[in-house]
Amino acid sequence: MRLADNVEVLELPTQSSVQGGIIHLTLIWDDKTVVLVDAGFPDQLQQIREAMNNAGVPFDKLDKVIITHQDIDHIGSLPDILRESPHKVEVLSHEEEMPYIEGRKPLIKMNRERLLKMLVSLPEEQRQRMEALFADPPKASVDTAVADKEVLPYCGGITVIFTPGHTPGHICLYLNQSKILITGDALVAVDGELQRPNPQATYDMDAALKSLKKLTQYDIETVICYHGGVYRDSVNERLEELASAAD
Ligand SMILES: [Zn+2]
Repeated sequence: MRLADNVEVLELPTQSSVQGGIIHLTLIWDDKTVVLVDAGFPDQLQQIREAMNNAGVPFDKLDKVIITHQDIDHIGSLPDILRESPHKVEVLSHEEEMPYIEGRKPLIKMNRERLLKMLVSLPEEQRQRMEALFADPPKASVDTAVADKEVLPYCGGITVIFTPGHTPGHICLYLNQSKILITGDALVAVDGELQRPNPQATYDMDAALKSLKKLTQYDIETVICYHGGVYRDSVNERLEELASAAD
């Protein structure tokens, strides 16, 4: 889905049951730089390639991947992207999130307890896949740490907003030119309504609510939720409502 001259939402179907199974990566570009925000589940490289082609921005032009946070559905195909690109692709994340993405610390939500809970409900084939994934989750080195309020000087300016809560080093991205907020998992859209993050999937709910408050400081016209997609209905007012419980 094209949101602005240089912004495309890549809608990728997955096997996940969350939010209709669709995840929403964002592609942003200018004359010199092509940026992908988040990298899908494992084994989605081919889908990412096709979605980029359909957007008219070939995969081989990709320069940078910004990771909003460490979860498996956001870093899954990152190692494949880096391996398959014909040139070096820069990876960016918040410093707090780097040790997890790089595999120096175990991914917060991929612990034994969670695995066991999941396995109970899965058919045998998926069960084996899941066990293998937990035993050896995707990892990749991060080249550049980004910080709160930093403006990345490409694609019309991309402002980093540090929004811990869903994970300790979660970031949102604000596109200065098009007034689009890429939320990662700091917010979700459910049946067309913008909602707070799901407490069950949130590492620190207090922090997550404080982070929502931060988002109210930006003039936002459009929101892209990784889970739930595009939301455009009086965004600033809705954000005020969602953040009000954080007072
Ligand atoms: Zn997610």
